[in-house]
Amino acid sequence: AGEWLLYCRPGFEHDLAAELSDKAMALGWQGKARVTRGAGFIRFMVTGDTPANALHRTLPLSGLVFARQSLLALPPLVLAREDRLTPILDQVVASGWSFDSVWQETPDTNEGKALAGLLKALKRPLESRLKKHGALRRKAGGRRLHLLWNDGDRVQLGMSFPGNRSELPGGIRRLRFPHRAPSRSTLKLEEAWHEFIPRDEWDERLGEGMQAADLGAAPGGWTWQLVQRGIHVYAIDNGPMDKGLMATGLVEHLREDGFIWEPSGRLDWLVCDIVDKPSRVMAMVQRWLVRRWCREAVFNLKLPMKRRWQEVSHCLLGLESALAEAGVRAEVACRHLYHDREEVTVYVRLLD
Ligand code: SAM
Repeated sequence: AGEWLLYCRPGFEHDLAAELSDKAMALGWQGKARVTRGAGFIRFMVTGDTPANALHRTLPLSGLVFARQSLLALPPLVLAREDRLTPILDQVVASGWSFDSVWQETPDTNEGKALAGLLKALKRPLESRLKKHGALRRKAGGRRLHLLWNDGDRVQLGMSFPGNRSELPGGIRRLRFPHRAPSRSTLKLEEAWHEFIPRDEWDERLGEGMQAADLGAAPGGWTWQLVQRGIHVYAIDNGPMDKGLMATGLVEHLREDGFIWEPSGRLDWLVCDIVDKPSRVMAMVQRWLVRRWCREAVFNLKLPMKRRWQEVSHCLLGLESALAEAGVRAEVACRHLYHDREEVTVYVRLLD
């Protein structure tokens, strides 16, 4: 029993709910999602004997596709505007938990953004009252208290634990658009690297002199990121590439079909942002991986269809079984990144 609170991109609530229901069911656990379309979060009520925190731990955020943040939650509160803080304090004290930090957040919606002033005004009194009750203190095991404000009088409290959460407010990685990059898509690849590659391994895994293929490269936002790292890129696309990028001398533009093109030797990276059927993109990438044409890959699956989780799940299961059949060991991850819209990003690294 208990409740789980997860943030997502508004519009993807049903996809996240379907993902959690599937994964909980596969573990033999039961739960019911409470979903409001466009809300930017879902509640997942764990039914039966399993405590919600066991499910929360067993299905960590890093393994979920559509969740931006994952919290163990208390029941939502409806507040009177004259005194919002007392019921919040009471609930925290009654929970028996204490925290190192407290974050106030809102769903990633326009209504949420409009609450910024209120959250700011509440910050100091909230923190000082929590401290007075011993609920906010040093060395509380890294636990963080989250207040998800849904409206000026509706809030839900949740807690997160180190190693199983996003360390970013709202679970959102904001990145500055590099003004010399040829397209906004550039941020998708940059975010993928932040998400999937530890920062202290970038020099080794995204190092100067490496070689990459970028399928569906034009006008060159992803290629630009690779070139910034000093990586040589085969840019495969019928469309035109950015002139400044070509002038770096690091890019070889080939007007070929990305589904057919083959590298002449083993590359370090494959990246692909072609808009096509997910199953078709997956089959192509599988061929690359099984033949070990690259060591690591980042590619997007476009999801214009309704049942997005089912599509993603089908593709990932297909990839796993193809790799297993070929005896290829790999790390596979898939996340709906902040800069992804109707698409998800898949990451694969061959392990030997
Ligand atoms: N990642 C790019 C960037 O950051 O600038 C944007 C890529 S755009 C979303 C998709 C590209 O895929 C288009 O330029 C299109 O020409 C290309 N494309 C579509 N089908 C392709 C194919 N079969 N082979 C190669 N490129 C293809």
